[in-house]
Amino acid sequence: MSAKNYSFFDAVKKSFYKAAEFTPWDKGLLHQINSCNAVYRMRFPVKRDDGSIDVIKAYRVQHSHHKTPCKGGIRFSLAVNQDEVMALAALMTYKCAIVNVPFGGGKGGIKIDPRKYSPYELEKITRRYTSELVKKNFIGPAVDVPAPDYGTGEREMAWIVDTYSAMHPNDINAAGCVTGKPISQGGIRGRREATGLGVFYGLKEVCSMEDEMQKRGLEPGVYGKRIVVQGLGNVGYHTAKFFQEEGALIVGIAEYEGSISKPDGIDLEALVLHRKQTGSILNFPGATNLENNTAALELDCDILIPAALENVINAENAPRIKAKIIGEAANGPLTPEADEIFIQKGILVVPDMYLNAGGVTVSYFEWLKNLSHVRYGRLEKRFNENMNARILESMETLTEKRVDEKNRGLIKHGADEVDLVYSGLEETMISATREIMEAWKSNDKIPDMRTAAYVVAINKVATTYSELGIFP
Ligand code: NAD
Repeated sequence: MSAKNYSFFDAVKKSFYKAAEFTPWDKGLLHQINSCNAVYRMRFPVKRDDGSIDVIKAYRVQHSHHKTPCKGGIRFSLAVNQDEVMALAALMTYKCAIVNVPFGGGKGGIKIDPRKYSPYELEKITRRYTSELVKKNFIGPAVDVPAPDYGTGEREMAWIVDTYSAMHPNDINAAGCVTGKPISQGGIRGRREATGLGVFYGLKEVCSMEDEMQKRGLEPGVYGKRIVVQGLGNVGYHTAKFFQEEGALIVGIAEYEGSISKPDGIDLEALVLHRKQTGSILNFPGATNLENNTAALELDCDILIPAALENVINAENAPRIKAKIIGEAANGPLTPEADEIFIQKGILVVPDMYLNAGGVTVSYFEWLKNLSHVRYGRLEKRFNENMNARILESMETLTEKRVDEKNRGLIKHGADEVDLVYSGLEETMISATREIMEAWKSNDKIPDMRTAAYVVAINKVATTYSELGIFP
């Protein structure tokens, strides 16, 4: 089946029911869990800079209200359609459940190519979309909290919070209506790189599992692993950056305009500079241009990380993939047919719905910060530094030895906001990886890690529903 005619929401449902077989829940409850609770489809006009008028199609889907607010990014892409937004919202419900973030799943999408609009036009579209959401009560710190996704970032989130706040002047928690904001608008340090860092922490934990590595003929650890990344946007760039910093080799990159390979490792920052200067990743010194923009996916490597769009690995190209591990940084990059092929080939697929949960995890921290109106670390940083200094001094007095300056700084350091965010994210990703692996190992009929992740998610959402007493 080609990637084009595959329904993304059907693929999510297929994975859901494959996993549901390994859970004890009633059929009706399972149906409720996988259904989309609310879909808002809107059309609105925007006046272009040249005076012409475009009619914009946009969506917001609230997949599950078993916990509120709903949470999920907003995507700007020409490929946006209702089915895609529903699928992405469903994945958010399961993702939040797995990483114990107390939200229901949501997602938004505007069907535009952002590259074809000026910043002023994009601002008008984003602000109008926000006011449409406000009118129907589809946004708010207690209702539904968007975030960045494909084609959006801090700039768009700043426009959203400003529009929402202007329409709710008495809401003291208005900053919590959206996450992924610039720091000056109530954002949190570490949110920009959070999804990529979470992908890195999750895969690092998988790479530390000796049995999983041994099955695939790999050494434990990240050092020296050969990585291919598709998409050098927010998620792909940061994932590649953290892998490179830990000693992995980026041997291939695929972008919109083409793909390149370099078996001894691509210098990521030099590539980003090259792309800025030339407008393309192609013709990067020392690297080979490959025949098209998907060719890098088929390179010989240890870990393949699709970090662009959905359905890019399907029945057609999956048989040619040589990676031993696939880390789904993007949402839905594999079709169910590709999944089956990888199960047969013994390739480990680390699934999207928990692997890219770093963004929503840190969004949760940002939302908590907005509701508490205080920066993480503000109250205790100085106290901890003073306490650490006193402990250090006492130890030096007792041992009559002096700790060197570098370690002295490390020991005395009190946690800043970014330290706490990284630590909370690392803990979240390690715990989620272990919980899913345990679920997988507890039943040898569960065929793959994705199914195990769904089992964990279904059990958590179903438990919430049943404890609410809705289904006696
Ligand atoms: P982004 O817009 O920052 O980056 C996407 C990148 O993919 C761009 O550089 C784009 O040029 C590239 N791309 C587009 N088409 C391509 C193609 N055919 N081949 C190769 N590259 C191509 O988006 P992002 O925020 O990094 O999101 C990427 C994926 O990660 C999406 O699936 C998104 O849903 C998922 N995700 C994002 C977040 C987040 O916090 N941003 C969180 C969870 C999941």
